[in-house]
Amino acid sequence: MSLPTKIMLGLLLGAGIGIACNFAWSPAIGTTSVAYEELLWWADKVAHPIGQLFLRLLFMVVVPIVFCSLFLGVAGLGSVQALGRLGGKALVWFLGTTAFAAVLGIVLVSTVQPGRQVSPEVAARVQAEYAKVAADKISEGQKGSGFSLQTFVEIVPDNVVGAAADNKKVLGVIFFALLLGAAATRLAGERTRVLREFLEAVYELCLKVLGWAMELAPIGVACLMFTATAKLGIDVMKLVGWYFVTAMGGLLFYQFVVLTAFARVFAGVPPLRFLRGCKTLLATAFSTSSSNATMPTTMRTATDEFGVPKEIAGFVMPLGATMNMNGTALFEGVVVLFLAQVSGLQLGFGEQLLLVGLAVLTAIGAAGVPGGSLPLLAVVLTQVGIRPEMLALILGVDRLVDMTRTLPNVTSDLVCSMWLARREGHVLKS
Ligand code: ASP
Repeated sequence: MSLPTKIMLGLLLGAGIGIACNFAWSPAIGTTSVAYEELLWWADKVAHPIGQLFLRLLFMVVVPIVFCSLFLGVAGLGSVQALGRLGGKALVWFLGTTAFAAVLGIVLVSTVQPGRQVSPEVAARVQAEYAKVAADKISEGQKGSGFSLQTFVEIVPDNVVGAAADNKKVLGVIFFALLLGAAATRLAGERTRVLREFLEAVYELCLKVLGWAMELAPIGVACLMFTATAKLGIDVMKLVGWYFVTAMGGLLFYQFVVLTAFARVFAGVPPLRFLRGCKTLLATAFSTSSSNATMPTTMRTATDEFGVPKEIAGFVMPLGATMNMNGTALFEGVVVLFLAQVSGLQLGFGEQLLLVGLAVLTAIGAAGVPGGSLPLLAVVLTQVGIRPEMLALILGVDRLVDMTRTLPNVTSDLVCSMWLARREGHVLKS
């Protein structure tokens, strides 16, 4: 059995068992039972740590891979001009697709109107249930408040080791690597040869370790899926069911229709071939819920499955994993409009436009880690005049939505790298 098939199997098995257990034993909201406590024990004390081990193995290689691949990618491009050309196009892709996704989310909610289906009593009940988690996210968001300016200022790290030490500050490492790579193009090749060979070796080693980590993926993925699904209260899902269906529907549509079409149009890859090549990538993104943790796999998918040159994949993926989040933008559009509907607030055209802008900015600013966008989402809610505590309404089902929004987040990076490779005159693997 091939690895992608095994990973898929792990995913289905973990999810299936988790959902079945939750269905059999989860008590009504606000109550508990012995069987449910036991289920939680298995989820927290057995599946969670095993899943975390897998996730941490992936995170472990992210910083060296980001640094090496960007440095080597930029130095390999040979000139600052080439960097500018590629970087400019990548940025156009990031901003264009992210804005498109946000608009799609808004249009979807305006059409389906999921917020009108939630009665005030239900809203109050769910809000009370998740008030504490929401408060945490709000305070996290406030700590990084002034995100519009500060997020951009912080792209330039004051301490590169500090940036490397925090998974949420990868942008700092990216900036440093880009700058160093650009500087390398200005030095005589001989002067940086040893460094380049060294970083190439580090990079290869990390990929080897990643390969080993992926061998464990079927078990890790099964555990991550079990932990997530065993706790997902079906009751909560029913309460905010319309929101859930709208968000998931929008994300899956974007993933499987829009991005597949983009792959066809921009990279010339036929839909079935594209989907087949994405199997491992999607299973990893879905189960880890993290663009950063998936980044090395995105890179491998681009180079090994689709034949994108290493310099291009090495350049696009680290940037894309942190900056390009189509799924997150779509999700933000959906949530904000949904919560506006629940609050009985009408967002005019101008406010919706502001919302698109904010969704794009926060999708860029959000960390590629599980739930990375939630603190920023709290800030966006405040900006458009919705009480951030309303966030509580969607938190009960957010794990599953998070897993799903990570799919387009990473797939868009992949398609971007394929598009750039094609524009640069490379032939992709068919
Ligand atoms: N989990 C998402 C990612 O890593 C970020 C988010 O939307 O919370 O891509």
